[in-house]
Parts: sequence; structure tokens; C-alpha cells
Amino acid sequence: MSEAVSMLSPIGGPATASAIGLYARETAGFAERLASAVERLQAAAARHGAGLVQSTSLGAEDMVITDLIARHKLPIAIATLDTGKLHSETLALIPQIEARYGRKVEVFSPVHDSVIHFVRVRGEKAMYESLALRKECCGIRKLEPLSRMLAGRTGWITGLRREQSANRAVVPFDELDAQGRVKFNALADWSWADVWHYIETFDVPFNALHDQFMPSIGCEPCTRAIAVGEDFRAGRWWWEDESAKECGLHVKKTEGATA
Ligand code: SF4
Repeated sequence: MSEAVSMLSPIGGPATASAIGLYARETAGFAERLASAVERLQAAAARHGAGLVQSTSLGAEDMVITDLIARHKLPIAIATLDTGKLHSETLALIPQIEARYGRKVEVFSPVHDSVIHFVRVRGEKAMYESLALRKECCGIRKLEPLSRMLAGRTGWITGLRREQSANRAVVPFDELDAQGRVKFNALADWSWADVWHYIETFDVPFNALHDQFMPSIGCEPCTRAIAVGEDFRAGRWWWEDESAKECGLHVKKTEGATA
């Protein structure tokens, strides 16, 4: 089941409301889910050592994971993709993480010439024209840099949760990606309320756009605020069918399809 988010519709410019106020609440079993997430991260770090990286989108879930890594002193590298199309609010989190936790954030960017060529041939707004062009853009700006981020790694950590969308309803705690690396979905069983309860409790930094009705944040051209009753990921690639709404970062080994 996807997660319906109740909020006000932004009219005439970015409306704001505290994401913590909207979402954070402690629900039954939170302490157990938190303890299990810590245990999973500790076990993954012990098993993979320097071969493990957190691939952070800098979204709320990933900020929780970064905080857990730092708080529990886990030897896990932290890395992100700068697609060249991120909001300034998203990019601002990188120095914030480094200052708050004393951890380096590795940043992987697309190949400059590939981006220039794509924009010159396909145009700045190609992602809106067809699914194929949108995926070509994601391939250049996300998938290729991700392949460099994961080169030489044996495992990676994501913030995927089952509640995020119908496509993610069966996300396991760990699985193999298309290259056979272990992908750890440390918060697979967490609710959106859990994520924000943790952020509030531990004063975790988060993207200011979450206070502008953007629960799921990607590139600026492909993210919009959501309205009352819309699903969690309704603001991502909103012009496409629900089934297409993935960027290809989460491809399974067993099925060869986007997760
Ligand atoms: S999310 Fe949009 S801008 Fe970002 S890489 Fe994909 S198509 Fe391009």
C-alpha cells in the first residue's frame, strides 16, 4: 500500500508547514524497529567493512540512516549523487552533514560531456517528452555516477521503505542488486511517522523542502509539492504512470526490473 499524506494544497507559491509537526509521532513498536535497524547496520558493517557505503539521497530516511551511522560510530562511508539538477536546499545538506557529524560526504557527479551532449541534442526539458528520454536523463545524471560510487563496493545502504509506494511494498531488509552487491534497506519496515519521530527526537538535520509539502525529493525539474490526500511519491515524475516512477537506481538481480 502506498502512503497517503494529508496536507494543505500549496496555492500561489510555496506554502510551508513544519514536517515534524505534520508527521512525527511515536507509534507502537518504534523502539524495537529502531533497535533492529541499528543491529542491521552493525551487522552489515561487520560483514562488509570498507566495502560498504551509504548511498544517500539526502532525503528524510537517509538523514536518519546517516545519523545512526554517526551516532553508533559505524565505519560506513557516506556518498551521494549530485545530478546537477538538485535544489539548493538539498545541496545545503552536504556541508551540514560534514559539520554536524565530522564525516566526509563523497559526491559523485555525471560526466560533464555526456550532460552537455544530452541537453544540446534532446533539450533542457527532454524528461517531460517521453519515458525513454526521462530514463536517458536519469541514466546520465544518476545511474552512471552511481556505478562509480559502487565500484569496488560489496554492499550499499538505502533508505527504501515498504510504505513509500506500491512498487516498494515488498522491499526486503537486504537483497542483491543487478551486479550482485548486497543492498541493505535498513528502514524497510519503518513508517513515515517513525522517520520523523526519530528526526525530532535526535534533532537530525533535514531538507527544508520537507516543510514545503515535498515528502519525496529528487531533481528540481522532476519534483513538485503534493496536495491533500496525494500519495507519498505523487510529486515525483507526476506526469508519468505510477508503474514507471523509478529512476533505475534500484534494479534487482533476480528480476532484472526496477524495484
Ligand atoms: S530525476 Fe529528472 S532531472 Fe533528475 S536525472 Fe532523472 S530525469 Fe533527469
